[in-house]
Amino acid sequence: MFALGKLSLIILTRCDLKCRLCCEYVPQNKPFPDMTVPEAERILKAAFDVAEHINTLHLTGGGEPFLHPKLPELVHAAMRYQEQFDTLMLFTNSTVPLSDSLKEVLRTYGQKILVQASRYGLYPEREEAVVNDLKACGVRLKIEKYYGEDQSFGGWVDFGPWEARGRTPEELESIFKECSVTRVLKGNWRTRDGKVHWCSRSQRGMELGLIPDMPEDYVDLLDETQTVEEKRQKFLQIASRRYLSACDRCSGDAGTENQEKRHPAAEQMS
Ligand code: SF4
Ligand code: SF4
Repeated sequence: MFALGKLSLIILTRCDLKCRLCCEYVPQNKPFPDMTVPEAERILKAAFDVAEHINTLHLTGGGEPFLHPKLPELVHAAMRYQEQFDTLMLFTNSTVPLSDSLKEVLRTYGQKILVQASRYGLYPEREEAVVNDLKACGVRLKIEKYYGEDQSFGGWVDFGPWEARGRTPEELESIFKECSVTRVLKGNWRTRDGKVHWCSRSQRGMELGLIPDMPEDYVDLLDETQTVEEKRQKFLQIASRRYLSACDRCSGDAGTENQEKRHPAAEQMS
């Protein structure tokens, strides 16, 4: 069976916060149009044609997913494939109140859904209300505390500027191997437009034109000239790469144990 550990659909690229170290570079860039329900359906069909099973399917950003006005419909669209995945995961920065239709869809699917709610302590009352609503909906809930002392993961890392560093192949291999996307996640597969990348740096960098387009670094699920088997082979090829072109345009600090490279989360831009 061909399986993926996780796949993220980037359903929007806009946010109500402006975090300086946003790894998606949302505040610094103009958003793309939100993913429509038909677009999501097309990508989901292509994804589940290729992957017979996905452990965790994410509906996420590039931004704050709870701002997407069609999130309930997107959840329903994803749930058509619920026999082919274990968990549907949603992310939120816990600042956007749940709509009635979102509460209803969360109650409908309950424990099949896991919501990761980040709490930045910027709007404590709003965060408390969102967390309480999620609890009342009966979903699984994972809260990441990102304020004060003892922040989750010791805080955030800075992926740095997009310019090429000119690293040697040995240096690139080393940062790719040590990167938490490789070491821990075994691939943070993600797509906004059908092109599935190994990590957010690669996906976001190429869609923003900050990294040259490298078709060998992604699987285009919507490419009708390729067979399902060819797309599976491409996933395997990328997973066995020694590094990606994006690794030369990245600090390589994801997953670092060096606390000096960790920063307080969600510092807001003026
Ligand atoms: S909450 Fe902050 S880190 Fe998350 S998408 Fe919005 S701006 Fe980026
Ligand atoms: S580009 Fe950065 S985040 Fe992506 S695999 Fe390379 S080192 Fe890791």
